[in-house]
Amino acid sequence: MTMMKAAVFVEPNRIVLEDKKMPDVGPLDALIRITTTTICGTDIHILKGEYPVERGLTIGHEPVGVIEKLGSAVSGYAEGQRVIAGAITPSGHSNACLCGCHSQDGAGTKHGFKPMGGWRFGNTIDGAQAEYLLVPDAMTNLAPIPDGLTDEQVLMCPDIMSTGFSGAESGAVKIGDTVAVFAQGPIGLCATAGAKLMGATTIITVESVPARMEISRKMGADHVVDFTKGDVVDQIMALTDGRGVDVAIEALGRQETFQGALRVLRPGGTLSSLGVYSSDLVIPLGPFSAGLGDNKIVTTLCPGGKERMRRLMSVIESSRLDTRPLVTHRYKLEEIEAAYDLFANQRDGVLKVAITP
Ligand SMILES: [Zn+2]
Repeated sequence: MTMMKAAVFVEPNRIVLEDKKMPDVGPLDALIRITTTTICGTDIHILKGEYPVERGLTIGHEPVGVIEKLGSAVSGYAEGQRVIAGAITPSGHSNACLCGCHSQDGAGTKHGFKPMGGWRFGNTIDGAQAEYLLVPDAMTNLAPIPDGLTDEQVLMCPDIMSTGFSGAESGAVKIGDTVAVFAQGPIGLCATAGAKLMGATTIITVESVPARMEISRKMGADHVVDFTKGDVVDQIMALTDGRGVDVAIEALGRQETFQGALRVLRPGGTLSSLGVYSSDLVIPLGPFSAGLGDNKIVTTLCPGGKERMRRLMSVIESSRLDTRPLVTHRYKLEEIEAAYDLFANQRDGVLKVAITP
């Protein structure tokens, strides 16, 4: 076979399934036959033209598959092995990698954004919403799937779980902490689960969709605050007896949620931001204590690389977390345009869609 099906960005508001040439496998690459993938909220920013990518690029950064072909210099893997690769595929040898910032691999700027060079799939190189995916720097990025785990059990590892957990990790949640998580989409839900795994004993989440409120409790929320039923900041401050929270995780990417997260912090607390923003943020003077509040504001892009993926899959394998309830809809790759339509419009209680070629 020399051609394959791939979901390609054509122009804003158009991602379509096209025939595309099979990629050539370089010495350090691996070719993966995709068995399951999914659509991310970031892909919707791309679809809407809010995050720019080249026309003709294959979208998607959450691959589960089987090794079809290994590059000539790749060792330690076998063709036919089931693997995942992170949404972020660091080279392992850049200055950013060696500083521990694998996601920011690379240099230069793209459309005015700072590097984010580790994010390559569906950003700077062809992505996972296709029959086949070329994984660069395979020995840094391919993570074998433990026997007995299904595709859907590990589907959240490449991005959703890695990003969600990183909200709690970058916020340095401690045993006994009170944590607020703003928005309970897939990443927010995994941030809730991550905060619980790290030892938070009071987790307050913000959500208004009933199905998401219910899953939020399953993932570890002690209180779910409905922003349609009164001021969120007032509700959280009341639940903490006026103390505020140790860590507030922003998982939506909007001005209101960012400011809400800032407002509920205790003095010295940490705002851990995961959202993808579409416009400039305003930092209000009062909640920012005019710059004197000893607060930390940290941002994180999904940690990648095979060791991160191994750890996340070990969380699943050891039954510390089951992310299967997040997969609410299933589509064939041929139906991906319908899947985009459902996901972009957030219809029918969708959290994540599983796409199978
Ligand atoms: Zn994503």
